[in-house]
Amino acid sequence: MNHTYDVIITGARAAGASLAVLLGKMGKRVLLIDKAAFPSDTLSTHFMSHTRFLEELGILHKLEETGLRKVSRMRTYIGQSFMEGPRADYTIIPKRDVLDPLLIEQAEGLNSVTFMPRTSARGLIREDGRVTGLHLETEGKTWEAYAAWVAGADGKNSNIAAWTGAEKYRETKPLRPVLYGYYTGVEPLSEPVTEIFLHEGRIGFVFPMEENRDCLGIEIHPGEFADMMKAPQETFEQTFNQFYGMKKRMEGAVLQGKIIGTPGMPNFFRNAYGEGWVLLGDAGHSKDPSTGLGINDAFLQSFLLADAFQQMDEGVDWETSLDRFQSRRDEQLLPGFQLTLDYIQSLRKWTDNEMALFQTIAANPMAWNKLMPHMGRHLKEDTKDFPLFYQSVEGEASSFGFRKD
Ligand SMILES: Cc1cc2nc3c(=O)[nH]c(=O)nc-3n(C[C@H](O)[C@H](O)[C@H](O)COP(=O)(O)OP(=O)(O)OC[C@H]3O[C@@H](n4cnc5c(N)ncnc54)[C@H](O)[C@@H]3O)c2cc1C
Repeated sequence: MNHTYDVIITGARAAGASLAVLLGKMGKRVLLIDKAAFPSDTLSTHFMSHTRFLEELGILHKLEETGLRKVSRMRTYIGQSFMEGPRADYTIIPKRDVLDPLLIEQAEGLNSVTFMPRTSARGLIREDGRVTGLHLETEGKTWEAYAAWVAGADGKNSNIAAWTGAEKYRETKPLRPVLYGYYTGVEPLSEPVTEIFLHEGRIGFVFPMEENRDCLGIEIHPGEFADMMKAPQETFEQTFNQFYGMKKRMEGAVLQGKIIGTPGMPNFFRNAYGEGWVLLGDAGHSKDPSTGLGINDAFLQSFLLADAFQQMDEGVDWETSLDRFQSRRDEQLLPGFQLTLDYIQSLRKWTDNEMALFQTIAANPMAWNKLMPHMGRHLKEDTKDFPLFYQSVEGEASSFGFRKD
């Protein structure tokens, strides 16, 4: 078979476009397709707590030049109180109609990458059981493209996964609906801070994107979604006004566009490969967005997959290379998956007694003086059924000088 491409990548956002950059740099002939036209938005907020991958992909400085704020602090509100601290790394919050086109532009700048927007994958071409290409449709015209590998970076409802029959595992149904929107005119804090509100078992968030533009969102209880979507803006703002300080800070706020809602994201891993095909990004692994990991996890998968292609070039057989890709993916993404599920499944409305005591302690420096030296030990003891959580806290604390005894 004469392959026109080394790899056809379906889906040109976080996963697909980043893979195209990495494979293009290796000199691979890549066809990158997406049914969307760009720039275009997609269903996603875009909190990015690690910038390492953006730097390695060569787009960090370009993104930052678009006026994004560097957010290096996080604040968690409970009732009328809050705790705030610095993060180990700064966060940027680029809208997807900025991030994804920059990635595509980076890929298109490489000689061996061809990008085709408005192009849908319609079905697999198979020869002797192996996937060897795709039936495609571009603006009403159907055509075929052939490749050694077909990569599905086509999101959580992946067509490539459906056509190859890639099985799911560790599956948990969607847990929480999410509503979000973009606002100008929210009264800012003195410096940009990611704000999280744990309120009545819901999670509210303010992501400071650029000067005078914020992404506001809430993860709500499943039973609230249908009613809230009947009057999304009104109910969204009513809920936000209950969060400490937000009623006043929202007085001059103006919604840009509309409130976007989803009943929730599925949680799963999928088998990642077979003869002639491979999955990455949300197509291979999806989870609740409350921990804001999906885009970074998509990048991580691209880097791991590029390594697997490198191994194949060096003579390792495809099954060993891709099996290693899938094991490394699961090993590195499972902790974040488990932490995310635990966060959402254990989040609840606080009892009146818990709230009253917390509010009193929050406002009492003598109480903090007593509690402060024991916080780590308390947290460790109270999460002993889920040691991963405390390990992740110690992991971040090591950036601030924490050393195990
Ligand atoms: C409400 C919400 C909030 C989120 N917030 C965050 C956050 O703050 N931080 C974070 O890191 N992650 C967040 N995520 C997760 C993040 O959006 C995803 O993990 C990420 O978009 C996955 O990227 P991807 O490239 O794998 O897939 P996608 O972004 O879903 O892209 C898939 C692409 O494939 C294309 N496609 C699909 N089928 C075909 C076909 N047949 N032919 C051609 N093209 C096709 C689509 O047009 C699309 O462009 C959030 C998700 C949601 C739903």
